Amino acid sequence: MYKRQDTKPINVGGVIIGGNNDVVIQSMTNTKTHDIKNTLKQINELVKAGAQLVRVAVFDEKDIEALEDIVKKSPCPIVADIHFNHMFAIKAIEAGVAKIRLNPGNISDEQQLKEIINVAKKHNVAIRIGVNSGSIPLDLVSSHGVSAKAMITAAMITAAKRYVKFFEDNGFTNIILSLKCSDPLLTIETYHLAAKEFKYPLHIGVTESGTLMNGTIKSCAGLAPILVDGIGNTIRISLTGNPVHEITVCKKLLSSLGISSNIVEIISCPTCGRLDFNLEKVVNEIEEYTKDMNFPLKIAILGCVVNGIGEGKEADIGIAGSAKKGIIFEKGNVLKTVPENQLVPELKKLINKYFELYKKSK
Ligand code: SF4
Repeated sequence: MYKRQDTKPINVGGVIIGGNNDVVIQSMTNTKTHDIKNTLKQINELVKAGAQLVRVAVFDEKDIEALEDIVKKSPCPIVADIHFNHMFAIKAIEAGVAKIRLNPGNISDEQQLKEIINVAKKHNVAIRIGVNSGSIPLDLVSSHGVSAKAMITAAMITAAKRYVKFFEDNGFTNIILSLKCSDPLLTIETYHLAAKEFKYPLHIGVTESGTLMNGTIKSCAGLAPILVDGIGNTIRISLTGNPVHEITVCKKLLSSLGISSNIVEIISCPTCGRLDFNLEKVVNEIEEYTKDMNFPLKIAILGCVVNGIGEGKEADIGIAGSAKKGIIFEKGNVLKTVPENQLVPELKKLINKYFELYKKSK
């Protein structure tokens, strides 16, 4: 397991971000926040999938009015996403959110910031300073130029330093930082610099990365190199579409890097000419079956008995199928041979056994 670089730990409604704690998984709703019923429904879906924090957009007074109810009924701490209007930040804190996200690019009035800081201090609420490459303060854009990538990184770090200094000068250190770019290479460079520069936990992500396939590839390309260096204390994978996918991708990324083990990992063979049953359908069915089971288990689903058992021996359990019959195996040993139509039910039984054992051990 890769050790996290030590940072100041920040308490967000009971979830600790930073220190040497595990990477906290978060996402953001895409419902209208004032639609309390559907926002809470999505928050619950995200938490069931494995989210530990959920952010909601605060766009207008109707959203502000909805926050208190959402905070009260949410199964996890709520983060409010604030742009432009400092009064929304203050009202969101007063409504009970555990953290707010501010963008230095669009709230920069010092008096307004001081008012936010005072209320955040009073309510012990954390603030994420979220610098985005697309909204660097104008004076920094002109002084650093934005054509060269290195200059964008420098401008983002300068913007974050300026904001952090202002918060610190006003006695506020309950800070989390993000410096998001849509370019994976820029993301790697910027977060490496940020980790050297700041003692605060880092919220990592590649912004505007795209749809499920493209966004997953871009996010993993940008985030894996920093995660393996111990950088990143909370993560959001930004994808266009259903945010539940963001949690799935977060978990799989962390698991594949050995940073989180609380996930059912399914390995399946790439298939070849020896395959004579619908392996893809079986893999999809087992992925769906296990998607909300947050516990460590490695399952191998392999296309044939010839190579299957050898290829799957690193898994806890698995199946190797064929058109007529297949085998169920556990820790590299064959448990039984069953007809093809019994492979999936038998595998599910075995998964349930492991899940029950895990629950008892907790
Ligand atoms: Fe081919 Fe069998 Fe290997 Fe799958 S497990 S790739 S079907 S040889």
